[in-house]
Amino acid sequence: MSDDESTRPSRTIPLAGVIGMPVAHSRSPRLHGHWLARYGIPGHYVPLHVLPEHLAEVLRILPRAGFVGVNVTIPHKEAALTLADVVTDRAALIGAANTLIFRPDGKIHADNTDGYGFIANLRQNAPDWNPAIGPAAILGAGGAARAVVASLLDSGVQELRITNRTRIRSEQIKAEFGARIVVYDWAQAGNMLDGAATVVNATSLGMDGKQPLRVPLDALDPDALVTDLVYTPLDTPFLSEARARGCTTVDGLGMLLHQAAPGFERWFGTRPEIDQAARDAALS
Ligand code: NAP
Repeated sequence: MSDDESTRPSRTIPLAGVIGMPVAHSRSPRLHGHWLARYGIPGHYVPLHVLPEHLAEVLRILPRAGFVGVNVTIPHKEAALTLADVVTDRAALIGAANTLIFRPDGKIHADNTDGYGFIANLRQNAPDWNPAIGPAAILGAGGAARAVVASLLDSGVQELRITNRTRIRSEQIKAEFGARIVVYDWAQAGNMLDGAATVVNATSLGMDGKQPLRVPLDALDPDALVTDLVYTPLDTPFLSEARARGCTTVDGLGMLLHQAAPGFERWFGTRPEIDQAARDAALS
């Protein structure tokens, strides 16, 4: 081996990972590990626990260690956007990045695939769903809700109703995303469902260890599509109550799988399949 070969990072074994704090709970290493094994790709995907004050330094060093990109999760999604050299329109609109690509020219390319994953999950699991058929109603106005708002507006939703415990965050979304947004008080969440064709829980309520989401569902139309971003548990009380009223429901795990696929393809060169084996791997 020449000196040159021994001092440069390997070009044949691409590395990727997920940067978060905490990161041990992330399902992404299992999912990407499953895809790497399935397609026989000699790469690795690892969890990276990084403090906020170290994020910039870590992002500059990783490409020199053979990393081709990373996913970014809480609390780094907004900071990652500001540290990138090139930002996609959708990441800029959402105000956060979840997928970084380390380009050969040394530049960091930032994207946000959460909204893509949200829509792709609904299209795969509720093929008859038509976002333009009626209003959408979103509970929550955090980072994930912003991605859902952007993707639903992009998919042709004409009226997008939103409510959040902290009303100012919904108002901020209206200020940024425009006239199709209608803000409701958190106390009026049940009324917001009246006539809605698409209903989304984008709060963290209903997650294992958290309080359930308590919203009166009397006004919920049985023809509505109801989805929950929470995927632990897979079948949240909100989804099972909606199903009991006749609604079609879609769980949040598919969003996690679909948002991961574009990054995997960019880093490892193969578009991975989103199927039961991928679901099982993410849940294992
Ligand atoms: P976030 O930015 O921290 O936002 C949390 C949201 O939950 C806010 O709207 C917050 O309201 C609301 N909330 C929290 N506790 C509440 C309570 N006790 N009562 C009422 N509202 C409450 O988090 P995020 O990144 O948007 O994530 C939200 C959820 O989506 C999490 O469960 C996350 O795991 C899930 N998620 C899933 C996927 C997927 O692929 N399926 C992707 C991203 C996120 P306030 O503004 O009033 O605090």
